[in-house]
Amino acid sequence: NAVVHWFRGDLRVSDNTALHMAYEKTKSKGVSLISLFLVSPEDYEAHIKSPARVDFILRTLEVLREDLDNLNIPLWVEVVEDRKNMGKKVMQLMEKWNASHIFGNMEYEVDELRRDARIVNMALQKNIDFTVVHDSVIAPPGALLTKGTGKPFMVFTPWFKAWVTYLHENPNYLEVFPPPTPNPKETRIYYRDLFDCPIPPCPEGKRLNPKEVEYVRSTWPPGEKEALARLQKFLNEKVMAYKDQRDFPSGNGTSVLSVHFAAGTLSSRTAVNMARELLGNGTLNTGNKGIACWISEVGWREFYRNILVDFPWVCMTKPFKVQYSNIPWQYNDAHFEAWCTGRTGYPIVDAAMRQLASMKYMHNRTRMIVASFLAKDLCLDWRKGERFFMEHLIDGDFASNNGGWGWSSSSGCDPQPYFKIFNPLLQSEKFDPEGDYIRKWVPELKHVKGKAIHAPFDRLDRKEWAKIEALGYPKPIVKHVEAKGRAMEMYKKGLGRE
Ligand code: FAD
Repeated sequence: NAVVHWFRGDLRVSDNTALHMAYEKTKSKGVSLISLFLVSPEDYEAHIKSPARVDFILRTLEVLREDLDNLNIPLWVEVVEDRKNMGKKVMQLMEKWNASHIFGNMEYEVDELRRDARIVNMALQKNIDFTVVHDSVIAPPGALLTKGTGKPFMVFTPWFKAWVTYLHENPNYLEVFPPPTPNPKETRIYYRDLFDCPIPPCPEGKRLNPKEVEYVRSTWPPGEKEALARLQKFLNEKVMAYKDQRDFPSGNGTSVLSVHFAAGTLSSRTAVNMARELLGNGTLNTGNKGIACWISEVGWREFYRNILVDFPWVCMTKPFKVQYSNIPWQYNDAHFEAWCTGRTGYPIVDAAMRQLASMKYMHNRTRMIVASFLAKDLCLDWRKGERFFMEHLIDGDFASNNGGWGWSSSSGCDPQPYFKIFNPLLQSEKFDPEGDYIRKWVPELKHVKGKAIHAPFDRLDRKEWAKIEALGYPKPIVKHVEAKGRAMEMYKKGLGRE
């Protein structure tokens, strides 16, 4: 007899709501706790999980298995080739293990909600309880609505105010669940076949190439202990200056914890809780600005999850603002290729795209710059960029990525009008003033001095430019001033405002 916890995007033993509930159930029933993870190559394909992300998940499972082993909890990992069979597989395992109750944390994407709804029905027919609970956000979707009209929020700032009030009024939501206490030793005998379950290799098509493996794995160590150590170090050393430093991509002013939030090796409750403790008697309004600002960024993650639930068409390639569905995007393959490979002739854009190619991560400021450049300088469909990010990011997260692309292409939940267009040159001068970020990622420009680094084609003399060109660095593929005009026309046309 057993109770099962199904791990999905929550690969940790501490502060895990469903795992905690499963554990409580085992105590009340006097049975063992078993845990399960399903590897679905078809899902990875359908949901565009990048090789780096899949590799990170599988490496995390190795660590999780060890953490669970210390608690006498087996982790059974099963590959399900056909994702339609997930429910059937779960039911078979439940019967095989003689388990009567399975718990899982909710995933808010439409496909995942449908999957769970199907499995709840299958379980009902077999007299099995399947409990799915909120965990990845602090305020569950639906908890915060606009005053008066009681509608979902569509803009971040008022949502954030409501969220802060919610945190103050519901301190119990910040209660962090301890890890389960160990299963009885007999579990190792009854369920001996489940211990030491092998973790499968990355499915074909989701493997990092041999050149990438070493760098990516040493850059991104997996596991919840690693996540907590990283968080603690950030809070000790950097959070106070976060507000002033976070926008400079060459500095290390941000937490670089997104990979852990995405894999669920860190919960937002734990993160916000630990940051709030640092505020002492201060509040988010009166305390240190760096801490408050960082908490508000974790809030953005949560806000975009709410958007996903309240406006589910964003999961189906529709823009949040449906009136932006008919923008006549250009489909220029050469421009897209130049953007993807970091060869646009705009150094800040190229540096960022090369950071992504190499680290499988990109700084937030440059994510905004390259996304705006794709939609508003190249006039390309933002969904191509959204997809490319998911194909490469190690922290690829549907809600945050979709939200970021919507924001940058003006088709998302941002009250700014479409004609607010980032100027890549001004962004470069403001946020990479010394050009350190550019020099790090674009070696062709390593020896360019002074302000020419931001626009070498325009600012170097012909002889100097010829040297850069000889190294293979391209001229700008579009002129920003002209591109801006084209973008305005394109948006006006799509919105019927010609
Ligand atoms: P920090 O600055 O330390 O922030 C702490 C945490 O807050 C982050 O780890 C993240 O979980 C959350 N956060 C911060 N900024 C944002 C934001 N703007 N939106 C949502 N959550 C935020 N983030 C992802 O996790 N996955 C994505 O796939 C993703 N795609 C993006 C695409 C675009 C076009 C843009 C503009 C932003 C995207 N972001 C995405 C948000 C943001 O860029 C990253 O979360 C951030 O750069 C991660 O670095 P960090 O952990 O050092 O963040």
